[in-house]
Amino acid sequence: MPEGDTVRQVARRLHDALAGKVLTRSDFRVPRYATVDLTGRTVLDVTPRGKHLLTHVEGGLTLHTHLRMDGSWRVFAAGQRWSGGPAHQIRVILATADRTAVGYRLPVVELLRTADDERAVGHLGPDLLGPDWDAEQALANLRADPARPLGEALLDQRNLAGIGNVYKSELCFLLGVTPWLAVGELPADRAAKLPILAKKLLEANRDRPVRRTTGVRGQDLFVYGRAPRPCLRCGTSVRVADQGDGSRERPTYWCPACQRGPAPRPGRPAGGGPRRGRA
Ligand SMILES: [Zn+2]
Repeated sequence: MPEGDTVRQVARRLHDALAGKVLTRSDFRVPRYATVDLTGRTVLDVTPRGKHLLTHVEGGLTLHTHLRMDGSWRVFAAGQRWSGGPAHQIRVILATADRTAVGYRLPVVELLRTADDERAVGHLGPDLLGPDWDAEQALANLRADPARPLGEALLDQRNLAGIGNVYKSELCFLLGVTPWLAVGELPADRAAKLPILAKKLLEANRDRPVRRTTGVRGQDLFVYGRAPRPCLRCGTSVRVADQGDGSRERPTYWCPACQRGPAPRPGRPAGGGPRRGRA
């Protein structure tokens, strides 16, 4: 699932392919924009904001897309075979003389006036990888709802932007608390470390093809996806359970020995694998 660092890599690929070039083709395969044609306009830049992508086009237009769970943008050279999925999953095609960017399975495709960008992304908290990053503000946002489980608060992009489901589990592991611990009960020293650790994780991975959090050779992640294998640190069997508000349950991993705090009620389904939902 795309997290802030992945979205940044996608943005850079798109930017390198499109920015400063004239569009020779645009094809929107979403009913609302079926008749829109951006041919002849120059792409100004592709900018990531949290997990959102803003493609700015000459004439004051912004193409706002979001990858959510399984959307992707692929860039192909002229004549290259498109490999992002079957044709019916294509939502947008933007082509220049030598590159074609194809957006597959994009759940969010929205054209807006660039002056209205904030309408699309103004709700986001400080972006972990953005120029607006503000650790104190992010922490204050998280603490505004002290009863909320930490894992849920970390995924809420209004608090801080960029953390997805993988980093949620990894970050809680690194902080030594379970994702079900109420934000208000996070010890002060851990709370102070949280924004710094989160930023470090995303920054360390912003240019890597494979997400890594451990520094352990051959092991990319501490707990995410490891259940029921042993914890890398203590050997206890890693556990998995769903966390969410019912409509957006996500598989959540933790080590019951390394992490302090409440666990979900026993009897809950222990992770039926990743589910579709909103990112
Ligand atoms: Zn452990």
